[in-house]
Amino acid sequence: MSDIKNNEDSFHKSRYAEILENTRSFIENYLQPNKNWDLGLSPKDRMIKLKYSDVNYREVSDHIKSLTYESFLKTPYWRAITSYKKYLAGFRCQVCNSSSGLNTHHRNYEIHGYEHAHLNELVVLCHECHNLFHARSIQTKNQSLTEFLFILLNLGLISLFFVFFS
Ligand SMILES: [Zn+2]
Ligand SMILES: [Zn+2]
Repeated sequence: MSDIKNNEDSFHKSRYAEILENTRSFIENYLQPNKNWDLGLSPKDRMIKLKYSDVNYREVSDHIKSLTYESFLKTPYWRAITSYKKYLAGFRCQVCNSSSGLNTHHRNYEIHGYEHAHLNELVVLCHECHNLFHARSIQTKNQSLTEFLFILLNLGLISLFFVFFS
Protein backbone atom coordinates (compact mmCIF):
# COMPACT_ATOMS: atom_id res chain seq x y z
CA MET A 1 0.00 0.00 0.00
CA SER A 2 1.39 3.42 -0.92
CA ASP A 3 1.97 6.16 1.63
CA ILE A 4 -0.69 8.30 -0.04
CA LYS A 5 -3.27 5.55 0.36
CA ASN A 6 -2.24 5.08 4.01
CA ASN A 7 -2.54 8.78 4.71
CA GLU A 8 -5.93 8.88 3.05
CA ASP A 9 -7.16 5.95 5.08
CA SER A 10 -6.05 7.47 8.34
CA PHE A 11 -7.57 10.82 7.30
CA HIS A 12 -10.94 9.15 6.71
CA LYS A 13 -10.65 7.23 9.97
CA SER A 14 -9.90 10.36 11.96
CA ARG A 15 -12.70 12.32 10.22
CA TYR A 16 -15.07 9.51 11.06
CA ALA A 17 -13.90 9.48 14.69
CA GLU A 18 -14.21 13.26 14.86
CA ILE A 19 -17.82 13.31 13.58
CA LEU A 20 -18.67 10.45 15.94
CA GLU A 21 -17.22 12.38 18.89
CA ASN A 22 -18.98 15.63 17.87
CA THR A 23 -22.30 13.79 17.52
CA ARG A 24 -21.88 12.20 20.94
CA SER A 25 -21.17 15.58 22.52
CA PHE A 26 -24.06 17.28 20.63
CA ILE A 27 -26.43 14.66 22.06
CA GLU A 28 -24.84 14.96 25.51
CA ASN A 29 -25.09 18.77 25.57
CA TYR A 30 -28.20 19.68 23.63
CA LEU A 31 -30.53 16.70 23.80
CA GLN A 32 -30.63 16.01 27.54
CA PRO A 33 -33.89 17.28 29.06
CA ASN A 34 -33.30 20.04 31.62
CA LYS A 35 -29.62 20.52 30.78
CA ASN A 36 -28.67 24.20 30.67
CA TRP A 37 -27.02 26.26 27.99
CA ASP A 38 -23.80 28.15 28.52
CA LEU A 39 -25.13 31.51 29.72
CA GLY A 40 -22.61 33.45 27.66
CA LEU A 41 -24.19 32.36 24.38
CA SER A 42 -26.71 34.61 22.62
CA PRO A 43 -29.87 33.07 21.08
CA LYS A 44 -28.27 33.46 17.66
CA ASP A 45 -25.03 31.71 18.73
CA ARG A 46 -27.09 28.86 20.11
CA MET A 47 -28.90 28.49 16.79
CA ILE A 48 -25.57 28.47 14.95
CA LYS A 49 -24.34 25.63 17.18
CA LEU A 50 -27.51 23.63 16.50
CA LYS A 51 -27.51 24.32 12.78
CA TYR A 52 -23.88 24.13 11.73
CA SER A 53 -22.21 21.56 13.96
CA ASP A 54 -19.97 19.00 12.32
CA VAL A 55 -22.15 16.09 13.37
CA ASN A 56 -24.15 13.28 11.85
CA TYR A 57 -27.58 14.96 11.76
CA ARG A 58 -29.28 11.70 10.88
CA GLU A 59 -28.14 10.31 14.22
CA VAL A 60 -29.14 13.52 16.02
CA SER A 61 -32.60 13.29 14.45
CA ASP A 62 -32.98 9.62 15.39
CA HIS A 63 -32.09 10.53 18.97
CA ILE A 64 -34.67 13.35 19.02
CA LYS A 65 -37.36 11.02 17.70
CA SER A 66 -36.54 8.48 20.42
CA LEU A 67 -37.41 11.05 23.12
CA THR A 68 -40.95 11.44 24.42
CA TYR A 69 -42.45 14.72 23.22
CA GLU A 70 -42.51 15.95 26.80
CA SER A 71 -38.77 15.33 27.22
CA PHE A 72 -38.09 16.84 23.81
CA LEU A 73 -39.73 20.11 24.90
CA LYS A 74 -37.28 20.31 27.83
CA THR A 75 -34.11 19.84 25.77
CA PRO A 76 -31.65 22.71 25.27
CA TYR A 77 -32.17 22.00 21.54
CA TRP A 78 -35.87 22.84 21.55
CA ARG A 79 -35.55 25.59 24.16
CA ALA A 80 -32.97 27.38 21.98
CA ILE A 81 -35.12 27.03 18.85
CA THR A 82 -38.29 28.25 20.52
CA SER A 83 -36.54 31.27 22.11
CA TYR A 84 -34.95 32.16 18.81
CA LYS A 85 -38.32 31.94 17.00
CA LYS A 86 -39.93 34.15 19.68
CA TYR A 87 -37.08 36.61 19.38
CA LEU A 88 -37.54 36.74 15.57
CA ALA A 89 -41.30 37.25 16.05
CA GLY A 90 -40.61 40.19 18.38
CA PHE A 91 -42.11 38.20 21.30
CA ARG A 92 -45.58 38.49 19.74
CA CYS A 93 -48.15 36.00 18.50
CA GLN A 94 -47.77 35.84 14.72
CA VAL A 95 -51.54 35.80 14.30
CA CYS A 96 -53.01 38.27 16.79
CA ASN A 97 -49.93 40.14 18.06
CA SER A 98 -50.59 39.25 21.72
CA SER A 99 -47.50 39.03 23.90
CA SER A 100 -48.81 36.59 26.51
CA GLY A 101 -48.66 32.78 26.72
CA LEU A 102 -46.45 32.31 23.66
CA ASN A 103 -45.79 28.86 22.21
CA THR A 104 -43.90 27.67 19.17
CA HIS A 105 -46.18 25.54 17.03
CA HIS A 106 -45.14 22.97 14.38
CA ARG A 107 -46.94 23.64 11.13
CA ASN A 108 -45.66 20.29 10.02
CA TYR A 109 -44.54 17.37 12.24
CA GLU A 110 -42.60 15.73 9.42
CA ILE A 111 -39.73 18.05 10.27
CA HIS A 112 -39.52 16.66 13.84
CA GLY A 113 -35.85 15.96 14.54
CA TYR A 114 -34.80 18.53 11.95
CA GLU A 115 -36.44 21.63 13.45
CA HIS A 116 -33.10 23.52 13.39
CA ALA A 117 -33.10 23.30 9.58
CA HIS A 118 -36.79 24.21 9.09
CA LEU A 119 -37.43 27.30 11.19
CA ASN A 120 -40.08 28.42 8.69
CA GLU A 121 -42.20 25.40 9.55
CA LEU A 122 -42.50 26.74 13.09
CA VAL A 123 -44.82 29.56 14.08
CA VAL A 124 -45.12 31.56 17.31
CA LEU A 125 -48.69 31.58 18.64
CA CYS A 126 -50.35 32.78 21.85
CA HIS A 127 -52.25 30.24 23.90
CA GLU A 128 -55.62 31.14 22.36
CA CYS A 129 -54.49 31.12 18.74
CA HIS A 130 -52.60 27.88 19.40
CA ASN A 131 -55.77 26.21 20.69
CA LEU A 132 -57.67 27.58 17.73
CA PHE A 133 -55.18 26.12 15.27
CA HIS A 134 -55.28 22.69 16.91
CA ALA A 135 -59.07 22.73 17.17
CA ARG A 136 -59.39 23.74 13.51
CA SER A 137 -56.96 21.12 12.27
CA ILE A 138 -58.74 18.35 14.21
CA GLN A 139 -62.17 19.62 13.17
CA THR A 140 -61.46 19.95 9.48
CA LYS A 141 -58.66 17.41 8.90
CA ASN A 142 -58.39 19.41 5.77
CA GLN A 143 -54.89 20.09 4.55
CA SER A 144 -55.96 22.66 1.96
CA LEU A 145 -57.87 24.70 4.54
CA THR A 146 -54.78 24.70 6.78
CA GLU A 147 -52.66 25.82 3.85
CA PHE A 148 -55.20 28.50 3.02
CA LEU A 149 -55.04 29.71 6.65
CA PHE A 150 -51.28 30.00 6.38
CA ILE A 151 -51.50 32.01 3.22
CA LEU A 152 -53.87 34.36 5.05
CA LEU A 153 -51.52 34.34 8.03
CA ASN A 154 -48.65 35.39 5.80
CA LEU A 155 -50.78 38.12 4.29
CA GLY A 156 -51.84 39.31 7.75
CA LEU A 157 -55.49 38.68 6.83
CA ILE A 158 -56.16 35.87 9.27
CA SER A 159 -58.42 37.87 11.56
CA LEU A 160 -60.65 38.63 8.54
CA PHE A 161 -60.99 34.92 7.88
CA PHE A 162 -62.17 34.23 11.41
CA VAL A 163 -64.63 37.12 11.28
CA PHE A 164 -66.24 35.64 8.14
CA PHE A 165 -66.10 31.95 8.90
CA SER A 166 -66.64 31.65 12.64
ZN1 LIG B 1 -52.67 34.98 19.14
ZN1 LIG C 1 -49.13 23.31 18.16
